[in-house]
Parts: sequence; C-alpha cells; structure tokens
Amino acid sequence: MSTEGKMKMPDIKFTKLFIDGEFVDAISGKTFETIDPRSGEVIARVAEGDMADINLAVKSAREAFDHGEWPRMSGAQRGRIMMRFADLIDEHTDELAALDAIDAGKLLSMCKIADVPGSAGNLRYYAGAADKIHGETLKMTMNYQGYTLKEPIGVVGGIIPWNFPIFMFSMKVSPALAVGCTIVLKPAEQTPLSALYCAHLAKEAGIPDGVLNVVPGFGSTAGSALASHMDVDKILFTGSTEVGRKIMEASARSNLKPLSLELGGKSPLVIFDDADVDMATNLAQIASFTNKGEICIAGSRVFVQEGIYDEFLKKAVEKAESLKVGDPFHVDTNQGPQVDKIQFQKVLSYIESGRTDGATLATGGSRCGDKGYYIQPTIFTDVKDDMMIAKDEIFGPVMSLMKFKTTEEAIERANDTKYGLAAGVVTNDINIMNQVSRSIRAGVIWVNCYLASGPDCPFGGYKMSGFGSDQGMDALDGVLKKKSIVTPIYKTPW
Ligand code: NAD
Repeated sequence: MSTEGKMKMPDIKFTKLFIDGEFVDAISGKTFETIDPRSGEVIARVAEGDMADINLAVKSAREAFDHGEWPRMSGAQRGRIMMRFADLIDEHTDELAALDAIDAGKLLSMCKIADVPGSAGNLRYYAGAADKIHGETLKMTMNYQGYTLKEPIGVVGGIIPWNFPIFMFSMKVSPALAVGCTIVLKPAEQTPLSALYCAHLAKEAGIPDGVLNVVPGFGSTAGSALASHMDVDKILFTGSTEVGRKIMEASARSNLKPLSLELGGKSPLVIFDDADVDMATNLAQIASFTNKGEICIAGSRVFVQEGIYDEFLKKAVEKAESLKVGDPFHVDTNQGPQVDKIQFQKVLSYIESGRTDGATLATGGSRCGDKGYYIQPTIFTDVKDDMMIAKDEIFGPVMSLMKFKTTEEAIERANDTKYGLAAGVVTNDINIMNQVSRSIRAGVIWVNCYLASGPDCPFGGYKMSGFGSDQGMDALDGVLKKKSIVTPIYKTPW
C-alpha cells in the first residue's frame, strides 16, 4: 500500500451554512465533524443545518424566485453568469479537487482531470441552453389558437450523496440555474466542503443572494425537512433506493412535489467469447474498481462467456493485484480509502457474506494497512445469482465474476435485478451488440467501453434505480413546467 507522499491538507475556508448569500452559523449553533478517511481524523467542524435552517433557506429561495431578478432576467444573462461561475471553478481546480479528495478519499488526480472540470463543463453546457428554452405554437381548432410557455418550476431542493460531491452538486444546480429556478442544496454529511466552496464562487460570479443556498446537515433532519417542505416545488435527489423511497413518502405526505430520483444500481458487464481479453479485463477493472467501487453505475456483476473465462480470470486477478491502494493525494495511487468507517465496515461485511455463502475469493478480501478505511480490490468467483454479493449494491471494490454459455442466458441473468441503472457489453459481433443493448433494461448501455459520459448524455434509471434524468437536455424538463395559453383568433366569442 502506498502511503508515502506529502500530505497536502487543503485550507478549509468555508464551514458555515450558505443562506441568502451569507455564510451563517446553524440556528441551533450545532456543528458536526467531517472526517478524513485516510486516517479517521477530523478535517473540520461544519455547521449542522436542521429544519429551522432549511426553513430559512427555503424562505430565501422562495423570495428570490417570487420577486427576485434571477427568473426574470434573460436566459442569455443567466448564461453569462453561469459561464463566470464555471470559469471560477476552473480557476480553483486545485482547492476544489483537494477538498473532494480529503473529504471523500477520492483520487486527487481524478478530481483534477474529471470531477472538477466536469462540473465546470456541466455549468457551461446548461449555460448554453439558458437562452434556448422555447415553447410551441398550437394551431388548435375552431376559433382558438394557443402557445406553450416553459417556465421554471420554482424552488428546487437538491439532495446529493458523497461519492461525487462537486460533480453531483453541478449536476443538480446547473439545469435549475439555467432555467431560472432557485435552489436549496443539501450536500451529504460526509462531504460538505466542496459545495460550500462552490457557494462562495457562485456569489463571486454574480448569482444573486437567495438563488443558491447550501445547507449541510444530516438526512433525517435537514434532508427530510427539505423533502417535506410545503414551499419546495421539486426535489432532485441522488442517493440510495431506500432513501429515495423516504423522499417519495415525504412528498406524498406534504405537497406532492414532483421528484427526480437517481438511485442505486447493480449493473452487469457482459463479456463475450470474441472479445479482446486484455481490453475486457481493463473494462472490468474500470467497471468494478473506479472510485473504489463507490459509484452507482459500477459494473460489479461481471458475466464472462465460458470460452474465455479462465484467461479472463487470470488477467483480472493480475490486474486487481497490480492496483496500488493508498493515499489518494499520491500521484501513483489507483485506489483511495472508502468514504467512512460505516461504508468500510459495510463492504467488509459483504465480503464476509460472499465467503460464507460459498463464493471463492480469487483475490483481495481484506482491509489494507491498519489505519484509515482502505480495502483491497476484491474478486469473487463461483458466485451464484442469488447470493447477496450478486444482488445487493455493495458500493465498494468488489467484483462478482460469473460464467455464462449463451447470449439469451446472459441477457436473462443481467436483467435479473431490481435495479436498472447501467450495463456494459463487450463484443465485436454487431448482432450480439444490438441484441444485448436493446434487451437489457438499464438507462445507459456501454458497448466496448464503460463509464463514458458527458453533459449531453442523458442519464436515468429503470426499475428501482429511479426515474427522471440527469444530464442532457432532458434534465431541463425536470426543472421546467409547461403552461398552455389559449386565445381566440378573431374575437371573443362570449
Ligand atoms: P443516501 O441515500 O444514504 O444519502 C443520500 C443523501 O440523502 C444524503 O445527502 C443524505 O443525507 C440524504 N438523506 C438521508 N436520509 C434522508 C431522508 N430521510 N430524507 C432526505 N434526505 C435524506 O446515499 P449515500 O450513501 O450518500 O450514497 C450512496 C447511494 O447513492 C448509493 O445507493 C448509490 O447508488 C447512490 N447513487 C446514485 C447515483 C445515480 O445517479 N443513480 C449516483 C451516485 C450515487
């Protein structure tokens, strides 16, 4: 395990709630610790928002929506401000990348080349859309004609997880800002730091006070207050299926606010006999171990056709054993620590269940070192479809390897899950490619690649992976309402 390398502690400048354009203490005065998963030590204490602070933030967002300039200015003007926000994110890449690396145990190098520029990219993509939101003209019948207006839905509540902190922030905030909504965002309690830093940059970019509020706090208090709030018009949620259900219940019990739910997954990667085994091994490693497996679209059920299974297994084990687990700030590290002690213990207990259920541990299976939350990249073979490691989202670096004979069998088993977020297929046969990608019920299918995405690529789950869409123009529909306006053509008939 590589633990050498200089510990670069970022400066923690923003730890208070951001409400109505100001950093403020929580009304209760409470704070909570955010932890460095490399060591289990405290990075900083952060103001702990709860229902009272959510109420204040929603009031500010409501005022900014009902009477403020943001929804009323031209789309082009909003787009210019968002572009400035994106530029500021780029200018602060080093600080933002370090905040996500220390808060979530993510690789600093990946945060610098993917998460932070990707977040600026999300803002720019939707900034470009801000002045291109049009309704339709309706010919109608008889003496009437009409048109539709696409209006911002109102006050949007964003609730996000800890695995891609700044990227999730930008995914939720960018489309909402572009159409003229105002926002209260609750980051995950494990990773509040980059969202607070972004709030500061948003203000510097010229986003008016009250338009973007960031309230760190716990799910059962701040999150649930936001989901239940009568004055919130929409919730954009990313997180577990279990919490997604609670958010639906909160909406049903309050004002029936519409929801976009991006939930869990247990995605299949299906590798056929004709695949290049080296490429397939690389893709399987990316699918299972990227971001230490803490990724909703992880392809952690790897189905390999029997003709190449043995060769694949040998190479996959070699590859997993070559990965360097260690300090995510170190340039050679491939895998950092799990986000916190709870996730660390959860992953180890899934590994234990794999052993006791009779799967064979091909490599890994233990923690690395005795400090921090590091886990070895782990591969199980002899996995049965009904084992917990094959059914549950582990959210850790654990690959379950399964052998199959026919295309039909692979499709059937790939679909045998309550989730439907993503899938991968590796083959050079165009017929198999088409058949499998059309037959698997998942929101994104990667053919001979995995995890490839971009701001224009819509993303949303089937089945219990949720509904609604992030990314692409589709995400705009989630924060817009379409209104029909009808007028007589000649003269008022009444
Ligand atoms: P989580 O569901 O525990 O928490 C997500 C957010 O919800 C956090 O901010 C949390 O504080 C909040 N929350 C918790 N209880 C709440 C409640 N009762 N009411 C309102 N808010 C509440 O998820 P997590 O552990 O942070 O993240 C991991 C999960 O997120 C995994 O299941 C993963 O698949 C999912 N995820 C999905 C996507 C996607 O796009 N589909 C992307 C990333 C992560």
